[in-house]
Amino acid sequence: MTRSVALLSGDLDGAVAAALIQAQGVEVFGLAFATQFSPVEDAARRSADQLQIPLRVVHPQPTEYLQLIARPRFGYGKGANPCGDCRLAMLTAAVEYLTQLEGQFVVTGEVLGQKMMGQKRSHLEMLEHHAGIPGRLVRPLSAQLLTPTLPETEGLIDRSQLLAIHGSGRRQIRELGLRFGLTGSEKGAARCRLVDPAYGQRLRAALVSQLSPAWLLPGLFEIRHHEWSEDRGLILLGRNQNENDQLGQLFQTLPTDPTILLATPIGFHGPTVLSVGLDFAEAKPRIAAGLRKKGFPAKVGERLAISDKTNDWEMQLAPESPV
Ligand code: SF4
Repeated sequence: MTRSVALLSGDLDGAVAAALIQAQGVEVFGLAFATQFSPVEDAARRSADQLQIPLRVVHPQPTEYLQLIARPRFGYGKGANPCGDCRLAMLTAAVEYLTQLEGQFVVTGEVLGQKMMGQKRSHLEMLEHHAGIPGRLVRPLSAQLLTPTLPETEGLIDRSQLLAIHGSGRRQIRELGLRFGLTGSEKGAARCRLVDPAYGQRLRAALVSQLSPAWLLPGLFEIRHHEWSEDRGLILLGRNQNENDQLGQLFQTLPTDPTILLATPIGFHGPTVLSVGLDFAEAKPRIAAGLRKKGFPAKVGERLAISDKTNDWEMQLAPESPV
């Protein structure tokens, strides 16, 4: 029986592409590539369940994926999203699975000319070439606009049953989703945190810093108030209770280290501060300076509790000069 591996991320496009191939009697196996910045596992599993196909979830090693973001061969999108390199890594994982299954081709939901992913013809051809599967990458949604693939010319699939969609129009894909009983998201790359320009800017600053890559948790870059001390110390301030809670959770998730400190207000409402990369003596004036910018201390005598999980300190906030 003809076998294929379909990339699934929970998007409607990928699910419809897989369904079009499945409808031709091909056995389809799903593969999801879930990074720390794009946790698509649950959404991809929903698609796989609707398609009634098995799903393999690949989690790239977080620090290796950060290296890919730091030095992308094919550049960035609007944020820190290295989509060309990332899709190549997905395809490489799909080819590995395909080889194990002794399958014949890989399927993706890419659409020629779709703005979000910059899917130009040359870009699609480049990916296929670098993934090492020339002629064995089928894009059922735009197949009739692309060069016939080997599965088409070998008669494994019928080209006339594939589509000729171009651009960002959604109508035909929605109709097919309804016909196949699929409910995937239409947001696509929006689920990937890396596409947000502000988030990407914060992450890219961290990638060129001296902080350990293992400490660069995705949640750090959701906090908007970032202050760097040269390129080795990062001070994060919560703007509201939600961010204060997030900072507390990040502190618990980060390893115990004398340069990872959490400062919380004692007896007054104010920002929680997470300091990463500075020891207590270095961090104290930076924390105080960050809080002064936010108007603290508002009253005489306001204090902070500071902890590195092993040691606890108290610090008095002073209005004029660093403590
Ligand atoms: S949007 Fe994110 S997950 Fe998707 S290809 Fe780009 S970097 Fe990878």
